[in-house]
Amino acid sequence: MKSNDICMFIQEDAIEKTLAASHSAETLAVRDILAKARQLQGLDLADVATLCSVSDPQLLSELFDTAMYAKETIYGKRLVIFAPLYISNLCSNECLYCAFRARNKAVKRRALTQDEVRIETLELIRQGHKRVLLVAGESYPKEGFDYVLKSIETVYDTAEGPGQIRRVNVNVAPLSTDEFKRLKAAKIGTYQLFQETYHRPTYKNVHLGGQKADYDWRVSCMDRAIEAGIDDVGIGVLFGLFDWRFELLALMQHIRHLEKTFGIGPHTISVPRLEPAAGSDIASQPPKPVSDIDFRKIVAILRLAVPYTGIIMSTRETPNMRRETFALGVSQISAGSRTNPGGYAEGKDVVDEAQFSLGDHRGLDEVIADIAGLGYVPSFCTGCYRLGRTGKDFMDLAKPGLIKEHCDPNALSTFLEYIQDYASPKTKEIGLALIERTLAAMDEEPRRRGQKLLDAVKSGNRDVFC
Ligand code: SAM
Ligand code: SF4
Repeated sequence: MKSNDICMFIQEDAIEKTLAASHSAETLAVRDILAKARQLQGLDLADVATLCSVSDPQLLSELFDTAMYAKETIYGKRLVIFAPLYISNLCSNECLYCAFRARNKAVKRRALTQDEVRIETLELIRQGHKRVLLVAGESYPKEGFDYVLKSIETVYDTAEGPGQIRRVNVNVAPLSTDEFKRLKAAKIGTYQLFQETYHRPTYKNVHLGGQKADYDWRVSCMDRAIEAGIDDVGIGVLFGLFDWRFELLALMQHIRHLEKTFGIGPHTISVPRLEPAAGSDIASQPPKPVSDIDFRKIVAILRLAVPYTGIIMSTRETPNMRRETFALGVSQISAGSRTNPGGYAEGKDVVDEAQFSLGDHRGLDEVIADIAGLGYVPSFCTGCYRLGRTGKDFMDLAKPGLIKEHCDPNALSTFLEYIQDYASPKTKEIGLALIERTLAAMDEEPRRRGQKLLDAVKSGNRDVFC
């Protein structure tokens, strides 16, 4: 798809009609949809619209129970952990909600040198991270897009003791097909990009200048990424800009378009909510704020609509909101994040260099102790990507039980690596007990695999997976 093509797969009329028709859904209709959702085969647009309209407390609790069932059945207690790595806050766009926008004088500009990227990476390695999400504004130092490619290489080339970053996911501005081919050659994991809002008039109102003002260039980006061979893509919406119900249905249209065209949907969906940002009025006063209860609904509905697609919860949210959404469907979380370039080495979020303010300021070890205490197994696994189980191969395997057969044992072994190499005594105690309990509750074959990997880690091996 070229830049000047008008993308037709987001059909606003169809979304509005579907939402209007689902306004006063009968209890029976909702229960039918929840029964269908329990089959774990996903939902269609009209089903999603009906679930969006649920407000009766009893039905809402049935919706949440069904989402918990799907999460538990498919993902068990595993939570994949990553950290964002902001390499630059230079930007030529004018997104009204973002502190990095070009004309915002409230932010000091900084693009990390390759030496600084290495130092940031070392900081993350020393905390115990294995997966990073590389993030940048849409303007690069003089070497242009090569700056991103060099930074990815620097991250992969940095190592210390047993530590290294094993998977670099990337969230940078939309690229041409040729640039995507170069990104693929740099061995990235997932390419991630959020449409922000699928609603054209709202999109126009909040993107005042630069390349990002072109809605079609952005919404067609995943087509170019997949055409270039990147088969793990992550999509998302910035909630708070427009009606969340509209955005969920448009997200579904985007997913179905990718499935129809390429035979694969997105690998992950992100659900950022607008957070305050230096120099942005609408970030503090979102035009269409999403309440906490609606936010939980969004996660639950997505879990049922696309049961095998990962849901990512960032540190924009508070520890409490994060905890609640783990049970409802979240499968990946960031931890110990900084959104200012150089923030890990500085040891703090510098507000006048950061993209937005965070809701969860805890360090990685504290987050790990917390989630392990709740019974969730933190996973630093990068096995699928390393073995080429991506895109359609991943989805084909996910359905009949990839997660139980491979992800669960790999989660235990990477968690034990973390415990042995980086954990505080408190986290170690909680973690070792959790590994023992989890292993004991596993089916025979994954337990055998898990035990083998754990034994390998105990005897000093690292980076073992199945
Ligand atoms: N510059 C690229 C872009 O815009 O796609 C990639 C990185 S951008 C720094 C990552 C994401 O941060 C954006 O897609 C947007 O959804 C999110 N973001 C921007 N401002 C935000 C805010 N005030 N609160 C929460 N998320 C925000
Ligand atoms: Fe730039 Fe991305 Fe921020 Fe927009 S959201 S101003 S493109 S960094």
